Amino acid sequence: MAAGIYLSIPFCRQKCTYCNFASEARAFSALPSYLSALSKEIAQSSARWEQAGLPGYEGAPADSIFMGGGTPGLLNGGQLRNLILSISARFSLEPDAEITIEASPENIGSEGGAERAAEWAAAGVNRVSMGVQSMVERELRAVGRQHTAATVAEACNHLRQAGISNISIDLIAGLPHQTAESWQESLDAALALGVPHLSVYMLEVDENSRLGGELLRAGPRYGAGAVPPEEAIVEFYFHAMARLNSNGYEHYEISNFAQPGRASRHNEKYWTAAPYFGFGVDAHSYDGRHRWANTDSIDSYLQGIESITSIFDEPRALSDTERREERFFLGLRRREGIHLDHRDVENAEMVAQINSCIASGWIERTGGKIRLTNHGVIFSNEVFAGFLGIA
Ligand code: SF4
Repeated sequence: MAAGIYLSIPFCRQKCTYCNFASEARAFSALPSYLSALSKEIAQSSARWEQAGLPGYEGAPADSIFMGGGTPGLLNGGQLRNLILSISARFSLEPDAEITIEASPENIGSEGGAERAAEWAAAGVNRVSMGVQSMVERELRAVGRQHTAATVAEACNHLRQAGISNISIDLIAGLPHQTAESWQESLDAALALGVPHLSVYMLEVDENSRLGGELLRAGPRYGAGAVPPEEAIVEFYFHAMARLNSNGYEHYEISNFAQPGRASRHNEKYWTAAPYFGFGVDAHSYDGRHRWANTDSIDSYLQGIESITSIFDEPRALSDTERREERFFLGLRRREGIHLDHRDVENAEMVAQINSCIASGWIERTGGKIRLTNHGVIFSNEVFAGFLGIA
């Protein structure tokens, strides 16, 4: 099965308050040395993996590249081209590979954006995932974002003029100051752009973001006091689900909606246990058997590449139980659900867990298949936790 390649570019102009990624708002003067370290890592990776007891996967087929982790939209055409060439020299990149770059709307929706979009297209980029989050200025400013709805529309124009029509927009339900009306405004504006893919996330509350930490401590900073209540966030999400479905978007994964045939090829790999190889800070890899992850510190990464010391943790072969757990908690993210195999249906503990989720209205079973219900999507973490540890 062809692999997906993930490249992490962990640089951002400023840190959004809700962000829990390992990205850093640091001087862009460090970007060129990071990119050259990234190319080195790609070129050295066979040897590094073999040293760690893994196959080298030299020349392995790949059919997607996803550049994310921060704001790769800051890269120019030459920098993108070099990265794509590094991947082509290391893997057998299929000619119709999906090549996605994550971008902020202002990267392409402001002055010079048309030229930048044309450079990206010429470098081989054919899909852009834009971190829009909201179309409402008050909400955007509260979380440290600089764009407006007009910037997003301009970015889409520039991309389409450059020949990139495969555009995805991310929205977040639960930003500070969001109301049912303002959420409607964001959805209306996103739908009016006619992009083939939309991702809708519910605000994540954890210690890894400033806003999340503040919410956990019930503090007022970062607009935490203006975050809508949980029930409202759930309603926003259900409302988005209904609006997007009635506008021809298939809800193919908990947070992802696509027009027919426009699901993200790269992201599907994470949920279907297909292999993917990640390069750069905090990049994760899975070869179908082992998982391993790069360091999440930019400094340790640069040092490790320079001194040819390890930059990733010890690869771990998944046990049978872990593989089965992953089949449930990754596979069930897809609205299509998963097929039960004979080991599932012969395992009394598993059958009891499935029946308990059915009784709670979280899962539905059709023949040999189970899938999350709409209600179950909201309780997906509880559903997934229930399948952990069943041998
Ligand atoms: S949300 Fe995106 S743009 Fe904002 S800090 Fe995180 S990685 Fe950077």
